[in-house]
Amino acid sequence: MSRGVEVRIRDVSKTYLDRGRTDALRGVSLTINRGELFTILGPSGCGKTTLLRIIAGLLLPDRGRIFFDDEDVTYKPTYERDIGMVFQDLALFPHLTVYKNVAFGLEVTGRPKDYIERKVREVLELVRLPYEVYAHRKIQQLSGGQQQRVALARALARDPKVLLLDEPFSHLDYKVRLELIRELKRLQRETGVTTIYVTHDQNEAMMLSDRLAVIRDGVVQQVGTPDEVYRRPANMFVATFLGEANVVRARAVDGVVELKNSKIDLSTVSERFRGYTGDVWIFVRPEHLTFSPFSNGKYASLKLSVVDKVFLGPLTKVILDGYGDLSLEALVPSYEAQKLQEKKEVEVFISLDDLVLFSEEA
Ligand code: ATP
Repeated sequence: MSRGVEVRIRDVSKTYLDRGRTDALRGVSLTINRGELFTILGPSGCGKTTLLRIIAGLLLPDRGRIFFDDEDVTYKPTYERDIGMVFQDLALFPHLTVYKNVAFGLEVTGRPKDYIERKVREVLELVRLPYEVYAHRKIQQLSGGQQQRVALARALARDPKVLLLDEPFSHLDYKVRLELIRELKRLQRETGVTTIYVTHDQNEAMMLSDRLAVIRDGVVQQVGTPDEVYRRPANMFVATFLGEANVVRARAVDGVVELKNSKIDLSTVSERFRGYTGDVWIFVRPEHLTFSPFSNGKYASLKLSVVDKVFLGPLTKVILDGYGDLSLEALVPSYEAQKLQEKKEVEVFISLDDLVLFSEEA
């Protein structure tokens, strides 16, 4: 249906001065590929909405440039940018019909009536709201999830080159949110529109994105596929923001750390730490701790005692304690956890490939 553009954000900064000084964005540069589903992820107040509003042309940056392909759109008004938006505060008209809401953006551009009708049909089918059933219902007669589908249909009706979404599903319950995330992914694939999605929810970001950028205090921390960012976090902030993490602080001497009964040669994890002396933060996700030995590869083993088991359905969280200096959490299939006894010592195995090392805490 539509063809997306590449979106380049170059060294964008924005400071608000109206409620004291807030440096909302500090030199942000990102390249979002044509046809990509890209997420901007970060905690509340990190600058996500500010960045999206600048891409939309609703706000001017203090410094920096926005390009759509080779065109500099930094000072181009929103209505000339060929974008579709689904923002938290960009409400539908509740007293008007679905048809009127979707057609609105097309009517203001003076499209002929039969074109508009065809287009409304097409986008309502695309978001799975059959025209015959829904077109003449009023917005207030729809569920929250259906209303978001209408908002998506309206955003897509003008064949945008870029689709911008700011936490569009955050007010919906979990099941509806999951369903809409799947729908959005499908829609995005079918239309090929370059899509930029803002969220503070790491699970949403991981389910949805081709790639994502993690932002903190107006600064990009890392860009990558969900898998890269989850498995190879660039710093401790990203590591802990993206999911549950065990972080052990230890002292390295000549590139070797002693953890309880186990010695870890840090250079087998990362060349950077060969011969390193100083503090090191060792990071490992709970699902990378196992209770069965590895048949090959390099691994560490630790003897720890089981403090508690938290049943989560298919998985169980096992809380492990190394008497004072070391406590860890493991996430294992529940059938494996059943074999473990509380207060008993067990041997825990960690593949060195699954460790990530940091030399500073931030
Ligand atoms: P959230 O997830 O809570 O919406 P966000 O990551 O989208 O947050 P922004 O809304 O971009 O963050 O805000 C970034 C920072 O700028 C915050 O500290 C916020 O308080 C501040 N800010 C945003 N808009 C304004 C404004 N109009 N005037 C002054 N400060 C602002």
